[in-house]
Amino acid sequence: MKTLPVNGKFELMTLPYLPGALAPVISENTINFHHGKHLLTYVNNLNAAIAGTEWEGRTLEDIVIAVAEGGILNNAGQILNHNLYFGQFGVPCAASEPVGELARAIEKQFGSFVEMQQQFEKAGATLFGSGWVWLSSDDNGTLYITQHPNADNPLRRGLKPLLTMDVWEHAYYLDYQNRRPDHLKALWQIIDWNVINQRYINA
Ligand code: MN
Repeated sequence: MKTLPVNGKFELMTLPYLPGALAPVISENTINFHHGKHLLTYVNNLNAAIAGTEWEGRTLEDIVIAVAEGGILNNAGQILNHNLYFGQFGVPCAASEPVGELARAIEKQFGSFVEMQQQFEKAGATLFGSGWVWLSSDDNGTLYITQHPNADNPLRRGLKPLLTMDVWEHAYYLDYQNRRPDHLKALWQIIDWNVINQRYINA
């Protein structure tokens, strides 16, 4: 499903939970800064940058795939990444482990959920500087764990983004300071695997 602007403007996504619902894994304070200030700034910057250009009226995904570099790509990429990031958490009724077709694919490809988690956390911990670690899939359903700098997204390599962890310091520094690996390990507690499975099985 692609993200269309409304009346020519992209909007700040609505969180599918209360800002304090993910605590203590992610504090309400971090959510308020991360969603309400950082993400809002990317939205405002993109709307200003595309006004009157050929990109006005295009979907967010089309912009991320088609724009080669620069401010429009960086802000559009950050919006898409954060929409996927904030949209993948859920408590208290979330599925805490992979479900459905995705559960079988993880088992087949990585041997176990635990092994996949370890590879994912390692990719997040060793990503130098700011960026994102992703679980994504290709058209055959094959899974990939990849590190991407800055605002990059697997869509730009023809892959379908499924699960992501934000390793920009703004995502964890208020709660975890320099302990990025501890933050990544804790995030598993709030991933809703029903959401990730839906992304996997939907085109
Ligand atoms: Mn972020």
